[in-house]
Order: sequence, then C-alpha cells, then structure tokens
Amino acid sequence: FLQGKRALVTGSTSGIGLAIARALSSEGAEVILNGFGDRSEIASLCDEMGATHSAANLLDPSDIEAMMADAGEIDILVNNAGMQHVSPVEEFPQDKWDAIIGLNLSAVFHTTRHAVLGMRAKGWGRIINTASAHSKTASPFKSAYNASKHGVDGFTKTIALELAQTGVTANCISPGYVWTPLIEGQIPDTMKARGLSREEVINDVLLAKQPTKKFVQPHEIGALAVFLCREEAGNVTGANWSIDGGWTAE
Ligand code: NAD
Repeated sequence: FLQGKRALVTGSTSGIGLAIARALSSEGAEVILNGFGDRSEIASLCDEMGATHSAANLLDPSDIEAMMADAGEIDILVNNAGMQHVSPVEEFPQDKWDAIIGLNLSAVFHTTRHAVLGMRAKGWGRIINTASAHSKTASPFKSAYNASKHGVDGFTKTIALELAQTGVTANCISPGYVWTPLIEGQIPDTMKARGLSREEVINDVLLAKQPTKKFVQPHEIGALAVFLCREEAGNVTGANWSIDGGWTAE
C-alpha cells in the first residue's frame, strides 16, 4: 500500500532503522537508507530493497541539508538514528553530551524542517520518530540520552499540532530494550558504572525493566511503523507509542 511513496529512514544500516526500512520497503515504499557501515554490506542492503543510501553524518547540519536536497520530496520521514553513552553525570564527557543531543534531538529538527515543506504541499505525510521508553521515564547514568529522548517527545507533539490540519501526522515510537548493537555497546559501561557482571546487567538491569522478560524484536517496531503509515492512522498524531513489554506501565 506504500507504492509511490518515498521514505527516508535515518540510521537504517543497523538495528531498528534497518527493520523499519525493510518493513516499509516490503509494503512497496521507495526507501532511502542512511547510516554508517561496511560499504559492501550497505550495497547489498540497497540491492535487497531496491534502495539508495545517503552517508550523511547527521551531526553535521550541512550534511543533513545536502541529504534532504538529494532525497527530493519525502512522504515518510523516519528519524531513527541515535546513540547512547552511560556515565554518572559528574563524569559525563561534554563531547558525548553534545553528540547525543546533536544526533538524537537536533538532527530530528533539521530533517523535519526540510521534509515538512513538501509534505504540506502534497497534503500527506508521515513523520515517525524513534524515541524510547526513556522519553517517558528515566534510568540513572543516561542523562544526555534521557534528555534527548524526552526532547524528541516534546518536539513530536509540537509538530503534530502545527501540522494537524495538513494531512501530515507525527508520532513517536518508544521501544523498551531491543537487542541491537546499541544495547550490546552499553553493556561494558553499565557493568563499570554499576559494578555488575554481563549476565547481571542483562537480567537485573535491562530485562528487569520489562515485565514480559523479553527483548523487543526489531521487526515488531517495523510493523508499528507500517501501521502509522496507513490511511486508518490519519487521526493518530502527537502520540508516543510504547513497545516496551510493559516497562512504562509500571
Ligand atoms: P544501532 O546502533 O543498531 O543503529 C544506529 C544507526 O544510526 C546505525 O545505522 C548507525 O550507522 C546510525 N548512525 C549513528 N551515528 C550516526 C550519525 N552521526 N549520522 C548518521 N547515522 C548515524 O541502534 P538501534 O538500537 O537500532 O537504535 C536506533 C534508534 O532506536 C536510536 O534512536 C535509539 O536511541 C532507539 N532505541 C533503541 C533501543 C534499543 O534497545 N536498542 C531502545 C529504545 C530506543
């Protein structure tokens, strides 16, 4: 049902973004991938989906501008690229703070402000922002991440209201813990910050948050993104969709 629609998915060479890109592509959307990674792996993802790829570094607003200009009119914008750093606030490296706010929050503003013009003109558009359970609640040692994701929630609600009468919706998807390289990467720092073993971090920190005791699967997030693109979701806007095994219900 997405034949003829063009979707840009940021941070889609890995993890959740890749699953969303695959889900949109399987519904017929023309997909533009973005993110870093091995050239030949990215080339094979492009072949698999008939997609193109932008190597834009979203920490650089001029790279974003060039990516948006190359992309042309976007019908579906998925702001998904994100990064994490785990550290007590008094030791939190300033450059990490700036990078996390830059990628997780400011880049969402930059892509959106470019994409909205064309969506308004067409009278149809979908903006889907991968936020996090940490857009609704907090865990210690993730000050920049939690601030950025709460910011994404506030930004999404604001543009949903600005665009409410234009046929363009804006929503957040807020996963709990999904097994991707981003989670894998934070395990050593969490072990250090909390003085725990790897198994204790997985069971007593990560899965302890999720009443289902299961990691969320990337393809489940892809399916939710597809739903938000349906015509039946035209009145779903300004919402923040939890997919977190019950975490934020507690
Ligand atoms: P991931 O590390 O697997 O993928 C991140 C993607 O972003 C990759 O494609 C990477 O190349 C790209 N990227 C990183 N820096 C970039 C930059 N400067 N410019 C352009 N692209 C860049 O991560 P993931 O777990 O799939 O996370 C995707 C999103 O989901 C993030 O916003 C993350 O905060 C959010 N999230 C993840 C989880 C989880 O448990 N994994 C939970 C909640 C929210």
